[in-house]
Amino acid sequence: MEWERIRKRPEDCVGANLQDYQEYAGRFAWSQARALLDGLPNGGINIAFEAVDRHVLAGRGDKLALRWIGRDDQVRDFSYQALRAQTNRFANTLAARGVAKGDRVFSLLGRVPELYIAALGTLKNASVFSPLFSAFGPDPIKARMAIGNAKALVTSEAFYRRKIEPWRKELASLEHVFLTECSGSLPADTIDLSAALAQASDSFETIWTGPEDMALLHFTSGTTGRPKGVVHVHEAVVAHHITGRLALDLRSDDIFWCTADPGWVTGTSYGIISPLTNGATMIVDQAEFDAERWYRILQQQNVTVWYTAPTAIRMLMKVGTEIIRRFDLSRLRLMASVGEPLNPEAVAWSAAAFGKPFHDNWWQTETGGIMISNYRSMDVKPGSMGRPLPGVTAGIVERVEGGGLREITKPMAMGELALRPGWPSMMRGYLNEEERYRKCFVGGWYLTGDLAMRDDEGYYWFVGRADDVIKSAGHLIGPFEVESALMEHPAVAEAGVIGIPDPTAGEMVKAYVALKNGFESSEALRKELLGHARQRLGPAVAPKDIAFRQNLPKTRSGKIMRRLLKARELGLPEGDISTLESEER
Ligand code: AMP
Repeated sequence: MEWERIRKRPEDCVGANLQDYQEYAGRFAWSQARALLDGLPNGGINIAFEAVDRHVLAGRGDKLALRWIGRDDQVRDFSYQALRAQTNRFANTLAARGVAKGDRVFSLLGRVPELYIAALGTLKNASVFSPLFSAFGPDPIKARMAIGNAKALVTSEAFYRRKIEPWRKELASLEHVFLTECSGSLPADTIDLSAALAQASDSFETIWTGPEDMALLHFTSGTTGRPKGVVHVHEAVVAHHITGRLALDLRSDDIFWCTADPGWVTGTSYGIISPLTNGATMIVDQAEFDAERWYRILQQQNVTVWYTAPTAIRMLMKVGTEIIRRFDLSRLRLMASVGEPLNPEAVAWSAAAFGKPFHDNWWQTETGGIMISNYRSMDVKPGSMGRPLPGVTAGIVERVEGGGLREITKPMAMGELALRPGWPSMMRGYLNEEERYRKCFVGGWYLTGDLAMRDDEGYYWFVGRADDVIKSAGHLIGPFEVESALMEHPAVAEAGVIGIPDPTAGEMVKAYVALKNGFESSEALRKELLGHARQRLGPAVAPKDIAFRQNLPKTRSGKIMRRLLKARELGLPEGDISTLESEER
């Protein structure tokens, strides 16, 4: 079905940072974006300095930087000045223990103030910050900390005891573990973070970092192999800042709420850095999704810009529009969405329910910041991700014989979404995986792994992933990681994992398992495997369903054909099965 274009009226655009997309994109240069930031007093650039210190030095220290709302509605406020003091304390805490420039500091925390303090304090100390999602189980945590060569970790005592302590000794690089929410008796070889912060000085001079110094390490998943450590540098802040202004229309008088968890890239680029560099006030809610609570926060906190994800929007749709009328949401100026396809129904629903649509935008861990967006001043076509950020060249490409690429210019023809590298927040590598990184680039394009189309007005339309990676509730899940955890169970001979459509989460993880000789499929074993996977991987990654199969379809070289599992699951044509091992047919 064709969805009606949502036209922007002049009054919808009053004061928008980007008034005329075409005109702005035509004159934009990245050097202008860089000039909006201060840089370190002695040259160089540092994300945390741009996010916090420069506002204090410019006399804006009293402005509210972070309002944290606890699960029990307790509120903790941090002005830019207070955030500076706390992040200085954290940087001193690291420095005093010999955690230095380039060393990796991981976090495994829920949305608590210490997470924000640790992230920014780590960057001030020129160390590398790597946030992990707190719903990960021990296996994904261990894999990522080993790849990243973690030197320090900030986590809660409860997470530590459950998810880290059992294997800590195996990770020799991990020297310092800082704990929040400590009980009376600290586990061996750990440090009480609040005591350490209390002892540390609140003054710290940001350690010098240059544009190409590593700042952030975010993990993402591919179809095969281990998770990839995506390397981002301090120069990325130029993109965090300008994309906040252009795609999210951020201004210093905004009250901004990004609902993403900082364990994923959105929660760092836009849940920490961008609102702060733009001098706004950011809201952080510790609690999980609850429609009524969310609307109450939007109203009570006078949120002006709200950035969330399709899964949450679909959950709000389920609750209906009646509830919205009970709240005064008139302060909301822009609502944006990212992370998974935003269905046109959801855009149309939001336009009717809130009087303004959700603005979809697209990017990925590797791009570090928003690349394609619906801007406040631009008409919205429900179902489209929008148009490329000024300064970013996108294209639809296809592979040609001989290994090159050809750009497809015909409107609405499907191909792979590709970008011309060169924006500041582009990844600088996959940590220690040069070959995997190199393969992302062909003929001067960066290949995103997504299939898309472009229409005659330059709007991009998402079609699907070009690979087997699963997107569930906005989280990218590598099937290989799930299969590996299942294979560790003594009953499992082989496992194939796919994403199947789910009306709320977009996709749901489903596993197919073939058992070893001597094991019988049963409901009890199915439950045991589900429990095993959940315990190892955590609820965000573990399969929600498991089906037993005698054999799994494999290529002649022994690779499980997930594509075929999916086609069979969904009753779709099986496509080219010429590589299928003969006895499997
Ligand atoms: P991640 O690296 O975890 O942020 O995941 C990035 C992937 O999420 C992209 O490559 C897309 O497959 C998907 N994605 C992100 N934003 C959108 C969007 N607006 N529409 C459709 N898919 C999206």
